[in-house]
Amino acid sequence: MKEGRGKPDYAIGTRDEMKQDATGGLAGAPPSRRVGDRFPSPAPGRDGVPTPGAKPAVFLDRDGTIIEDLDFIDDPAKVALLPGAAQAIRRFNDAGLVTVVVSNQSGVARGLFDEATVRAVNDRLQALLNEHGARIDAFYYCPYLDGDEAVVERYRKESDWRKPGPGMLLAAVEDMGIDLTRSWMIGDARRDIEAGQKCGCRTILISGRVHLDALNRPKVHQDAPYRVTGLLEAATIVAPVSN
Ligand SMILES: [Mg+2]
Repeated sequence: MKEGRGKPDYAIGTRDEMKQDATGGLAGAPPSRRVGDRFPSPAPGRDGVPTPGAKPAVFLDRDGTIIEDLDFIDDPAKVALLPGAAQAIRRFNDAGLVTVVVSNQSGVARGLFDEATVRAVNDRLQALLNEHGARIDAFYYCPYLDGDEAVVERYRKESDWRKPGPGMLLAAVEDMGIDLTRSWMIGDARRDIEAGQKCGCRTILISGRVHLDALNRPKVHQDAPYRVTGLLEAATIVAPVSN
């Protein structure tokens, strides 16, 4: 999980850059600053045995799960919360769940926008949630994409941070001391569910909106043990068992 380590330009595609804390991002912060500094629990190992004191988390896809999916969101002004999303996240907060956004942002590799824009969009999302008394504890995003559509060469690569890879979730586990066995992954696409399953999380598929992935692969929904129409409905499943 050493994404980007060793690159001469630390600002491009490093792990700390692809992570934002709840106060609005790490731009300009020293590389040593970690989201996990606020969480005293030591990071659990990856052998499936949770560290004592590790917290349950809700991993959340961003586009199509918390905010409207516009395919590629290149402007903070375009951020619009989905109905019930803020209430749902507030319920996760109240239940003591660590809330972590894990978002594929291949628009960076496609040359549609830069990482600063991704962080600005995340900041706008956080601000809108805060207005409703809700908060995200950490944001992770993957700017990478493999193949010809990745026109920005430094972002053209395979990465296990890109869902369905488990990389972003595992990084959060390491950073924040999360107990995966009591955690959830919620998203609106097959890749979200797969990423959660790879980590041993319980998974919830939001299927109110027909996602392109679902159209292409109609069997997708069979993989998810829970299926809901929106994040608020997901909260009715998650929050009661997490208290
Ligand atoms: Mg999505």
